[in-house]
Amino acid sequence: MNRPKKNLYIKTYGCQMNVYDSEQIALILGRDYDLTDRPEEADLYLINTCSIRRKSEEKVLSLVGRLKGLKNRRPQMLLGVGGCVAQQEGERLLQRAPHLDLVFGAQGIYRLPHLLHQRLESGKAVVDTSFSADLPYISGQVKPGAPKKLVTIMQGCNNYCTYCVVPYVRGPERSRPAAEVINEVQDFLRQGGQEVTLLGQNVNSYGKGLADGLSFPGLLRRLAKLPGLVRLRFTTSHPRDLSDDLICCFAELPPLCDHIHLPVQAGSNHILARMHRGYTREEYLHKVNRLRQICPGISLTTDLIVGFPGETEADFADTLALMREVAFDAAFYFKYSPRPQTAAAALVDQIPEPVKAERLARLRILQEELSLASNQRLVGQFKEVLVEGLSKQQNQQLCGRLRSNQVVNFDGPQDLIGRMVWVRIEKANLHSLGGHRCQP
Ligand code: SF4
Repeated sequence: MNRPKKNLYIKTYGCQMNVYDSEQIALILGRDYDLTDRPEEADLYLINTCSIRRKSEEKVLSLVGRLKGLKNRRPQMLLGVGGCVAQQEGERLLQRAPHLDLVFGAQGIYRLPHLLHQRLESGKAVVDTSFSADLPYISGQVKPGAPKKLVTIMQGCNNYCTYCVVPYVRGPERSRPAAEVINEVQDFLRQGGQEVTLLGQNVNSYGKGLADGLSFPGLLRRLAKLPGLVRLRFTTSHPRDLSDDLICCFAELPPLCDHIHLPVQAGSNHILARMHRGYTREEYLHKVNRLRQICPGISLTTDLIVGFPGETEADFADTLALMREVAFDAAFYFKYSPRPQTAAAALVDQIPEPVKAERLARLRILQEELSLASNQRLVGQFKEVLVEGLSKQQNQQLCGRLRSNQVVNFDGPQDLIGRMVWVRIEKANLHSLGGHRCQP
């Protein structure tokens, strides 16, 4: 007789790679656990963490502290922390939160059944932060019938940007064999899927060290030929490794969507060099121009850091000027925060918090102007939308994305979820669009 399954609750912080890892966790533990969205009913509560900024790490530690009460009320519940904070802190997390049962790094997710068994057998908390050379993968879909899917194609990073903790918590760069990636995408398309986003810390350097010798543009070309693939996206691209061959893919491959996330981080050559980014402002702008030449109207989004050590008012002005010149359609922006082990944390000319906050406020005002202007340019246009689900703001409305990645909300029946529809854009908000379903 089958044993009844237990409840698994996963709280995910951070980037899309963490979202993918959480899906993998659900599949790995799927034999014994069903996912629940009710944390108070969890038999196993896992927190998949991000340590990219100090604030994200603080959020995790505060949640772990608050969960002590739930653990007291449900003593049989197992509580685990995985991902980047777990990788970074390891045993130290147990000292700070002795009510934890499991601490596992990003690679530890594939050993979770074994780690849980070890925890139950020994009665003691278990810590696993080891790295492995390969990138395992569990096939299957957490949400059968979903129209889009994330697919990790590589992990880790060898770049060591001086502010970034990723090379320390995700390890060196490793790529998944192309055949395995293609199989995963094909499985998804056979189940009716339409849109795939390829993930990696620096997808542009995909393929290094693989026996099949396929580069990232080569992988895109192979995937673009798969029947049923309507939309193909990727993130994140390092500007230094954005080759002309890759830029040309935007004109050549019909499923490749006209959007690229290209983190610039700063607009001053002095700061870019201190960040160890490997490109200048001029080189970045040249690649943006080339992208726009090959794919007119391509949507461009970015990441920006303000208050990096040594950033002068003139450096910051360079960042604002670059933002105006590119006119980014959207951006993620943050105050610099020193991360453990990174080179920039040891720099002596750290910027005072009030200065960082003031610069961030100015940068936000500018980006909001740019984002709104970009969305306003879409008003009156007919756009194809992949319907993803119900709108977060207006639950009666549907929500989907344009090929250029903007979110649009509109009225329609729920049976349109998972389908491609035409929408006339009627309204531009800061972070989304409003529209009406119609034929072009
Ligand atoms: S390229 Fe730089 S910012 Fe991106 S993951 Fe690697 S070290 Fe971090």
